Amino acid sequence: MVKLFKGNVINPVSPSELEVRENCTIAVRDGIIEAMFDEKDPIPENYQGLKAEDFGDSIIIPSFTDLHIHVSQYVQRGVGMDCLLFDWLNKYTFPQEANFRNLDYARAIYPQVIRDFLKNGTTQVAPFTTIHYDACDLFFRMLEESGMYSYMNKINMDMNSPEYYVEDTEQSVADTERFICEHSGSRWSGRVQPIIVPRFAPTCSDALLKGLGKLADRYDLGLHTHLVESRAEAAWSAELFPQYGSDGAIYERCGLLSGAGPKIFAHVIYPTNVEYEILNKYTAYSVHCPISTNNITAGIMPVSEFLKRDLRVALGTDVGGGHDMALYKVVGTAIQSSKLKAFYEEDYGRIDLTETFYMATAGGGAAFGRFGKLEPGYHFNALVLNGLQDDGFELPLIECLERFCYSGDDRNISHRFIDGNLIDPDEVFERIKGI
Ligand SMILES: [Zn+2]
Repeated sequence: MVKLFKGNVINPVSPSELEVRENCTIAVRDGIIEAMFDEKDPIPENYQGLKAEDFGDSIIIPSFTDLHIHVSQYVQRGVGMDCLLFDWLNKYTFPQEANFRNLDYARAIYPQVIRDFLKNGTTQVAPFTTIHYDACDLFFRMLEESGMYSYMNKINMDMNSPEYYVEDTEQSVADTERFICEHSGSRWSGRVQPIIVPRFAPTCSDALLKGLGKLADRYDLGLHTHLVESRAEAAWSAELFPQYGSDGAIYERCGLLSGAGPKIFAHVIYPTNVEYEILNKYTAYSVHCPISTNNITAGIMPVSEFLKRDLRVALGTDVGGGHDMALYKVVGTAIQSSKLKAFYEEDYGRIDLTETFYMATAGGGAAFGRFGKLEPGYHFNALVLNGLQDDGFELPLIECLERFCYSGDDRNISHRFIDGNLIDPDEVFERIKGI
């Protein structure tokens, strides 16, 4: 089935090019963009007679990919933000995550999370959940029903965790394998796929990491974890795993990078040459979450160095370290944070809107395939923006996008599409809350 959509298209072509096409028509066949043509172009023969859904002066952009968020910390967003990391973990985060042992609790919280993703235009997501199999299975089924794309699993932690929120090593590996087996294959859409999600090296024993490494290899899966998140975490990992020498080497040597799926590392604020080599070797995604790493006082990822080295960078909200579900606000904060870093470090280069918007869309979207651009061959996962102009003064389209990333909210998003289908976040919420 073919649908035509018309409007002012802003497309992140590359980290250095943001393309604007005014009054552009996008032809979508079975959810995939088939062709794009401008007003001056003749309408291609196969689309003649079809009426485009015309969004007029509105802006059409690709939807967002949040490549790092703790969905189980949703209810604590914007709370405890005056704590330092370890107080925040012990007072808020671990007790909150432990609540998900109760399936009714998960059933109450998770539909709100998915509604909030969709309201804010996020249609691809890599979440951290909790250690609880049943709550993770529920979240998987809700994601599947919502139409969103995701990589997920239960998380793993068998040491250096509170006694009320920790796993037995063998059980952790067995539950992870069960999750993989029960959430793969033809009875599911394939939009939500398993990945391996150890919390981070300091909360995982060598035996657990190696057990998970075998699963990555056996089922050809990717990895999602935290990497050199703070100076304290990097030092702690090195102390706990002296045989491996660095945070990145732990995951490589335990076999966790052996599968074909995407390798997703959150934060990566203090990479050594070993980490840079590993990120390059596995074409890994480093996820910049500046709202969160400001809140937890972890530091600022050296993004311009990553771009110089041609490494993949995506963005994440990292709620509840981050206090907002809107990935476009992470775009604004990423730019702000790079200016702050450049203010204190003379040789550091700033990043701009073009680079940062690319990370929020095409950068993270690539982990899922052809997502995050408005070009033929890509999924039509897209948003329609408006309400970004003032009366009496006309802002250029790129500056409207910039204003959205700094001052916008979900009221500026009038339409959301996944695979060419219009999505209503409230309707999805009503549908999934009974699962
Ligand atoms: Zn995180």
